Amino acid sequence: MNWNRAVQVIAGVAVLLLAGSFRAAAQGIPQPPPASAVSAAPQSDPLPITREARGWLADLIRINTSNPPGNENLAAMYVSNLLQKEGIKPEILDVGPGRSAVVARLRSSVVPDPSKALLLVAHLDVVPVDKARWTVDPFGAVVKDGYMYGRGAIDDKGMLAANLAVFIGLKRSNAHLNRDVIFLATADEEQSADASVRTLIAKYWDKFAAGFAINEGGNVFMKSGKVQYIGVQASEKVAVNVAVIARGTSGHASQPTNYNPVVHLAAAVAKIGAYSAPVHLTAIVRRYFEGVAPLEDDEIAKWIRSMDTADRGEHAQRVISEASPLWNSMMRDTVAPTILSAGLANNVIPAEARANLNVRLLPGDSINTIISDLNKLVNDSAVTLQVQPNAGLAAPPSSLESDFYILICRVASREFGGAPALPFQSTWLTDSAQLRLHSVQAYGLVPFPLSDEDLRRMHGDDERIPLASFDKGVDVLNKIVTEFAVAR
Ligand SMILES: [Zn+2]
Repeated sequence: MNWNRAVQVIAGVAVLLLAGSFRAAAQGIPQPPPASAVSAAPQSDPLPITREARGWLADLIRINTSNPPGNENLAAMYVSNLLQKEGIKPEILDVGPGRSAVVARLRSSVVPDPSKALLLVAHLDVVPVDKARWTVDPFGAVVKDGYMYGRGAIDDKGMLAANLAVFIGLKRSNAHLNRDVIFLATADEEQSADASVRTLIAKYWDKFAAGFAINEGGNVFMKSGKVQYIGVQASEKVAVNVAVIARGTSGHASQPTNYNPVVHLAAAVAKIGAYSAPVHLTAIVRRYFEGVAPLEDDEIAKWIRSMDTADRGEHAQRVISEASPLWNSMMRDTVAPTILSAGLANNVIPAEARANLNVRLLPGDSINTIISDLNKLVNDSAVTLQVQPNAGLAAPPSSLESDFYILICRVASREFGGAPALPFQSTWLTDSAQLRLHSVQAYGLVPFPLSDEDLRRMHGDDERIPLASFDKGVDVLNKIVTEFAVAR
């Protein structure tokens, strides 16, 4: 054991002790959700383990895993310790300095059959906070008005705690499984960099190879206090960053010329900002819109149904794009300028100016098409576009005919008052793309009913989860996993 490792272990034990006392404190607080939160989620008695799961969620929020730098080690040790106490043998998987994942398995038979196994996936890391903009401590797991506040409450420590509850519940009940159930807590999801699921797959695939997975990525969408529909993610867009580089002649700012790269860059970015890629409805997005049309008012429904028509298609696509940024991004490749950089001093014209474009491609679309469109649009020999390293890879969609997909939709729809379950192609990235590239039928469903207002706080300020939604989500996830993996 080297010294660094010893320090990590000591720190880890301290966190576990602290976390234990936090949990006791959290459990000691009476937490009757107020009327608004109760009515926001369909009613059913929470599973007994849900009380404990709320405590685990609070503990996990209190372990700061903001990425960068991630530092998932302590959270991994916390999870591993919890599982060990239940008589499960977890393994901590090293993915980099200070960074680890956790895997554990409940066996169905002596000889495992990876093609049947079910993987429960969630990530340990969270996005950073702008602490000054929060009204509560982002790492305090404050319970207020029926919500638990904290970075990761939804994304993705809520799901992590729900996965733990389901997994530990199966162990406690000694369930007779018809397939292995594998628990996986990943690192570095938010940066998708060196410590991410890509590395886990490269180094440890045999430890969690599975035919099916459930992960974040889809949501239970609420509207006016009711579940409107359940979006089960079966595909996702692909992120690629492109640098816009304007080159010119540096010089004295007192004598401007036409070769100032700041001016060229600004003009290019303005043109790119107005760019809209053509609509391309993938099979999943078509099915999504078919399902969503009857849930909308007559006007919107009419335009959704007209999107494919020859005479009104173009106008319909415009109306639907303008009705919702989510819908707009589901229908086409998008380009968002995110970073501008140029300049050394107020009185110096720089030689170069740069912008970053965050491009989100529909799976199957090529970045080269976008680059060529943008080059034509910018039409300036001083400006070049350069695809940046670590571009995402498109994965084939998960099947909408698999037993698991059908079961998720059936159970979720039944448990959420008959709301339809629709296939969903997320505009955001998840670990599932990498799993799909390894032939896993991976589906995304964060099982907590959430309003737009709550969803907006993900990656934003005052992230929070309604406790009634958390309880309901644990119950629904438990039913999905039990109906798929427990022998009758
Ligand atoms: Zn996430």
